Amino acid sequence: MTGEGSIPVRVNDRVLDLPEGRSLLEGLLEAGVPIPHLCHHPALKKATGVCRLCTVEVSVGDGGPQTRRACLLKPLPGMAVRTESAAVQAAREKAMRALLRQAPQAERLLQIAAQFAIRVDPAPDGCIRCLLCERICREVVGAAALRLGKRGGVRLIEPVEGRCIGCGTCANVCPTRVIHVHDEEAVRVISIRGETIGRHPLAVCEGCGKRFATPKFLDAAHHRAVDHHPDVKEHHRFCPECAKRLSGRVSALTTRRY
Ligand code: SF4
Repeated sequence: MTGEGSIPVRVNDRVLDLPEGRSLLEGLLEAGVPIPHLCHHPALKKATGVCRLCTVEVSVGDGGPQTRRACLLKPLPGMAVRTESAAVQAAREKAMRALLRQAPQAERLLQIAAQFAIRVDPAPDGCIRCLLCERICREVVGAAALRLGKRGGVRLIEPVEGRCIGCGTCANVCPTRVIHVHDEEAVRVISIRGETIGRHPLAVCEGCGKRFATPKFLDAAHHRAVDHHPDVKEHHRFCPECAKRLSGRVSALTTRRY
């Protein structure tokens, strides 16, 4: 039944009396129909439609359905509105993507996305997927501790459990500095996006007592040295500064000890 100053509009599967002269968005919201919106404010008279979130599918009379912003329309006789069609969902996703590009961490946007099941791309994680870290770890370090995986449909660099030797090479080559090496007293932590790649105790330099490298890295260096440079095979027990300073004496010291 039509009330005074109202217009009957078919909204999804019901006919609602929406106030004449007010926007379709206001009428739908007042009638309790959930519609995502951001740039509408009841204290402001003129709608702008800039956020585009309130897009609905509208047809009037014999005209085919069109996606339109509800805040820019007024209820009309013979109007039919769909608020939950595939076209509406696609329009909402497009609008939300544009908004999140400008404010990727905005809590209100993410809340609206969750409330209306609007699929959103994950926020940028700082990694540009250049694969330098994965390649250097596999090809040069020989640890193969990183791989390009997929989580929630998104490709991302992830650790291979138990393979990291804590050398820090991946962090050194990372062009965006998203991989971190953090030495906490006697422990070295390698991480990406806050996720731990490897956690290792740090060995002590036999020259100066400084903690400088991980035992796994020193073992790897030792094996390489034995293979390629037998004359310097014990230099890895010294930090780079001491190895340099003692370079003439290291062989003698280590020869004496062993
Ligand atoms: S720190 Fe770990 S993940 Fe990074 S290059 Fe070295 S072994 Fe590979």
